Amino acid sequence: MKKFSALLLGLLLAGGVTAQQYQGQPPIRAVVDTSSKPTDRQAKGVFPFNEDGVYFSNDFDGARVNGIERTGPNAYTITITPENAPINMSPWYAFQVWSRAPGEVQVKLVYPEAARHRYTPQVSTDGLQWTPLDADRIAADAPAQVAEGNSSATARPKSVTLRLPTGPQPLWIAGQELHTSKRVYGWLDDTARKHHLPVAEIGKSTGGRPLKLLTVGNPAAKKAIVVISRQHPPEVTGYFAMQSFVETLAADTALAKRFRKDWTVYVVPLMNPDGVDGGFWRHNVGGIDLNRDWADFNQPETRAVRDFLQQRADAGTKFYFGIDFHSTWDDIYYTLDPKFVGNMPGLVPQWLDRIQHEIPNYKPVVQASDRLEPTTVSRNYFLKQHGMEAIVFEIGDNTPRDKIRQKGQVGATELMKLILAKSSR
Ligand SMILES: [Zn+2]
Repeated sequence: MKKFSALLLGLLLAGGVTAQQYQGQPPIRAVVDTSSKPTDRQAKGVFPFNEDGVYFSNDFDGARVNGIERTGPNAYTITITPENAPINMSPWYAFQVWSRAPGEVQVKLVYPEAARHRYTPQVSTDGLQWTPLDADRIAADAPAQVAEGNSSATARPKSVTLRLPTGPQPLWIAGQELHTSKRVYGWLDDTARKHHLPVAEIGKSTGGRPLKLLTVGNPAAKKAIVVISRQHPPEVTGYFAMQSFVETLAADTALAKRFRKDWTVYVVPLMNPDGVDGGFWRHNVGGIDLNRDWADFNQPETRAVRDFLQQRADAGTKFYFGIDFHSTWDDIYYTLDPKFVGNMPGLVPQWLDRIQHEIPNYKPVVQASDRLEPTTVSRNYFLKQHGMEAIVFEIGDNTPRDKIRQKGQVGATELMKLILAKSSR
């Protein structure tokens, strides 16, 4: 098998200079059956290899390792399979490795036939602070269609081999920074405590984990906006944008205080806690892509949000804006065609213009859907049922983390200004 250079891989993975900007996925046309299907149970544990004095573990929340094989001295192949199929190509992996004596192991990550490597490995010594694995420690095997070089899935390698330093202290390796339900809810509780905000449980996931809701702003206000994230477990960069977006809305700035007087913000930061803790590629424990279930509501996670919003609407709340944070190859905004008019017409396109104005040289792709029904995805349901001006806000997998924070902050600031200006007219 031919190898190509780590530098080229780095460029590809970073959506680098030669890469064409990802133009977005095609519109979702078909209704998918979202009744529950079986998902795998990953065998968890510590996997010792006494010949090398090397140990692997997937015995923690968010881990994914479906098989390990020793292929030579200090050389291993780890198989990563999805929770069920068919499924989108977003192979998530997370494991720990350590050794009795300091050394180095080679770990080849392999995926099922059609899948391609997506996530640049992040490493950590404590599971909390993460850094990308050095590019010269990553070699891609059997690149597919690299010559056509764009950042879409087919240009990705089928497998990668990682050179990992080992010692007695476990090294964590994961597709993105590990933000399990414990860590997400830790953030939620910290944010609530800091700003004296209520946290409620609006339901339970298929696996019995709480679905938590943070309320920012005036709970008695009848004007509201809605924020959700992590329908898809590995989409951590979208979650980072959501965090800074919410922190900006909750901050002690003059603008945010003015906004919160008459507005409520409902935040569900973790739509799919079972998938996140199970190390899933995309689905919930019911084996379903939750962002295809906003028409039939077969899954408890989507039903909990639907029922909560309906209760608020029945009690007189009017919703103006809804945002669903995700991650994909590059930053992209999936909007709705302006012919679909909600409770604050023009809000989304005006908001996107302002964001691009405030962040120099920022030109994300905007793709508007000309189809509202069947609602299927959260964005369409938010508009159809509640008149929210709605958007899917996607952050690139490799977007620099400080840029993500900036996008969340600028996004929240400009949204508050715009909503206040439009509602005072
Ligand atoms: Zn997604």
